[in-house]
Amino acid sequence: MRVTVLSGGVGGARFTRGLLALLAQRLPDDAGGTTAEVTVIANTGDDMWLHGVRVCPDLDTLMYTLGGGVHEGQGWGRRDESSRVSTDLAAYGLGWEWFTLGDLDLATHLARTELLRAGQPLSSVTERLASRWRPGVRLLPMSDEEVETHVELADGRLIHFEEWWVRHHATVPARRFVQVGLAGAAPAPGVLDALARADVVVLPPSNPVVSVGTILAIPGIRDAVRDAPAPVVGISPVIGGAPVRGMADACLTAIGVETSAAAVARHYGRRAEGGVLDAWLVDEVDADAVPGLADEGWAVAAASTLMSDVPATAAIAARALALVDRLP
Ligand code: GDP
Ligand code: CA
Repeated sequence: MRVTVLSGGVGGARFTRGLLALLAQRLPDDAGGTTAEVTVIANTGDDMWLHGVRVCPDLDTLMYTLGGGVHEGQGWGRRDESSRVSTDLAAYGLGWEWFTLGDLDLATHLARTELLRAGQPLSSVTERLASRWRPGVRLLPMSDEEVETHVELADGRLIHFEEWWVRHHATVPARRFVQVGLAGAAPAPGVLDALARADVVVLPPSNPVVSVGTILAIPGIRDAVRDAPAPVVGISPVIGGAPVRGMADACLTAIGVETSAAAVARHYGRRAEGGVLDAWLVDEVDADAVPGLADEGWAVAAASTLMSDVPATAAIAARALALVDRLP
């Protein structure tokens, strides 16, 4: 069984960890893992150059979460992290006080940057870094090209998405999101193949605008999802009219989409009507959205979608796969 997931950082990583736990139960291998092949196509629109190193927040969150090294409380970054380097940088009057680069995390960025500088594409570098973490999935960046999400503010100024998100907490109104570098970007090696050969494609509860939306914007990826032979199922990141964590509501508002489970589904659209999804799992508190979506032709169900721990998340993955008849 082949599963392909389009993922952002924390939401996508936590979901994938639950999916792997489910698959390890249903389709176990001899080593405590699963015989299923899971490919994760990660958003790299949040990537940036900082202090001369390449930071890939969503790839790293996936790698640390699935590899057992994540700071659980934060959901991103390394467990047992320290900040001696950034503190010392600050003593020189340098550094970005709004963006934390932990010491252990910095090692990842240094390693990545060294390999990139040696001429390796990001997909190969990611494979190399992931070989240490053994995330149990094939981890692919959406593209080898640098595509960076920027936010256009009301005065027309463009700032990097991370500056808007982390420094300004998404409180400065955004006019739109611009993917700098998009025109020259192509899907990374393996991405289109993973969509064409999947038995099921999953859109986890990641940010629909700046995580999944950015992946779909890479020329060729939206069409590959639309044309995938396998069913495509999504899980709502919006519960009861609000994102579970983060500020996805500010992103949805910027693109004119209401922050509700039903509106996010309609924003993605049904594949039968040119969209990217066949099925949509909403939280049980949004059960009243189910009849309307079902009338429109959606395969839709309501269940608890709070990823409170790994077993609860495995149950969410099971509900999602069952919705498209792919629960092993
Ligand atoms: P990021 O790149 O770190 O922002 O992570 P993602 O884009 O992968 O996921 C962010 C989204 O995950 C947010 O919009 C949250 O609403 C959603 N999310 C986080 N935790 C949960 C959860 O427990 N359940 C659901 N349904 N969504 C969640
Ligand atoms: Ca992200």
